[in-house]
Amino acid sequence: MRYTLLSKAEVETKVFKERAGMINVYSCAGCGRIVVYLYVSNGITPGVITCDKCNQDAYSQLTSVRQPSRIWYRPEKLEDLENLAENCVNEIGGNYEIILNQYIMHYNKGGLFAKII
Ligand SMILES: [Zn+2]
Repeated sequence: MRYTLLSKAEVETKVFKERAGMINVYSCAGCGRIVVYLYVSNGITPGVITCDKCNQDAYSQLTSVRQPSRIWYRPEKLEDLENLAENCVNEIGGNYEIILNQYIMHYNKGGLFAKII
């Protein structure tokens, strides 16, 4: 008997076109564990998998999301905060000193800053 494998092009036209690069999250009904999968290929995947931790069913959250496009991070030095305040003034407007002061207070409370990656 000869076997025929569905080609990559057929998968992309018959099944799912744009899964590669997306993330799917499985949530365990038993222990609540969350497992995150990254699609490196286009194709279909099970809606339910077995939890590695407790062997109960973990369900796909159905909504596949893109890989992160933004991060929360902690700037390393005062100059970084000054640059952020300057960018804010340029993009949104406002008073530089007031914004910088707010950023420094936020930073000193342990606050993180958002960045597009
Ligand atoms: Zn579990």
